[in-house]
Amino acid sequence: MEINHNKQIVGLFKTLIEKKRLGHAYLFSGMESSGKGETAVAIAKLINCEELKESFCDRCPTCLKIEGRSHPDVITIDNEFGESIKIEQIRNILSQVKLRPYMAEKRVIIIENIENFTQESANALLKTLEEPSASSLLVLTTSDLEKCLDTVKSRCHIFLFYPLAHEKLVGLLKEGYDEKPEKLSFSSQYSQGCLGRAKVLLEGGFFEEKNKIIDKFISQGINTDQMKKMLEDKKKTKDFLNIIFSWLHDALLLKTGMGLDNIVHQDRLADLTSFQERYSYEELTGLKDHLITIHKMFNEKFNVSISMNILQSLLKV
Ligand SMILES: [Zn+2]
Repeated sequence: MEINHNKQIVGLFKTLIEKKRLGHAYLFSGMESSGKGETAVAIAKLINCEELKESFCDRCPTCLKIEGRSHPDVITIDNEFGESIKIEQIRNILSQVKLRPYMAEKRVIIIENIENFTQESANALLKTLEEPSASSLLVLTTSDLEKCLDTVKSRCHIFLFYPLAHEKLVGLLKEGYDEKPEKLSFSSQYSQGCLGRAKVLLEGGFFEEKNKIIDKFISQGINTDQMKKMLEDKKKTKDFLNIIFSWLHDALLLKTGMGLDNIVHQDRLADLTSFQERYSYEELTGLKDHLITIHKMFNEKFNVSISMNILQSLLKV
C-alpha cells in the first residue's frame, strides 16, 4: 500500500537533485517504523526514475525494479540484528561505492539501523564516508542517534523523522484502509504516530488480537496454563506486556480525568471506565509499577510467567 507521509523530505531531495546539490551521504534518524527506509527507497527512485515529473512515476521499469529490491544499483542492508551482518558483507557493499553504476544514474546504498554496527563495521563505514564518490549516494538510517559514532554523524547530512500527530495519521490511514474509525484510531495511538508500525498493526489483525487479550486478562482472568501459552515466545510476550501496559495507562488517565484524547483503547471506553472504578488511584499506580518491573525483567531475558501470574491475581476480575 502506497501512503507515505514524508513527501516533504522527498520534495526537498527533488530540489537538491535539480540544483545539483545532492550530498554524498545522508543519515535519517527517527523512531522504528517512522518511514526512514521507505523514504530512502523513494529517493533512489527519484534519482533514477525514467519518467520523472513532479515526482518519481512508480511505473517505469527502473521504479518497479527499485520497489521490488531487484535493481542492481540500489542496495539495501538492514542491520536490525547487528551481529548477523558480517564485516566482509559490509566491506563488499561499501567497495561498490567507488565503482560506476551498472545501469543507473547513481548507485544508492541504503544501510538501515547503523546504531547496531560493530566497531569494525563502523570503521569500514567511516572510511567510505571519508572518501566520497560522485557515482554513489549513501543513505543511512538509525533509530538511536546517540549510539552512532560522532565521526560518522559529522560526515552525513542528518534528517530527523518525527512521529505524526494523531489526527494526521488517522487521515493518512483512512486513505489506504477501509476500516472502522475505532480501529484506525487505535492503530494510530498504539503506533505512537509511526505510519509504518500502524500499517503493520492494521494488516496483521492486531486490533482483534488485543481485544481478545484484554477480555481474557482483564475481564475473565487467565489461569497458569493459559498464561504459559500467552508467554510462549518473545514476540507474544512483548505484545502481551505492551497491551496490558497501555490498558493500565489508559485506566490511570481516566482516573485522573486527563481527557479522552490520549486514550489508546477508545473502542473499549465502557470497559475501561468500569475497570478503573474498581481500583483506587494508588492501586492502579501499583499495578502499573508492577508491570514496569516485569518489563525490565523481560528485557533482561528473565522468565516473567510467575510475575505475570502474580499480577493477574492482583486484578479484580
Ligand atoms: Zn519511474
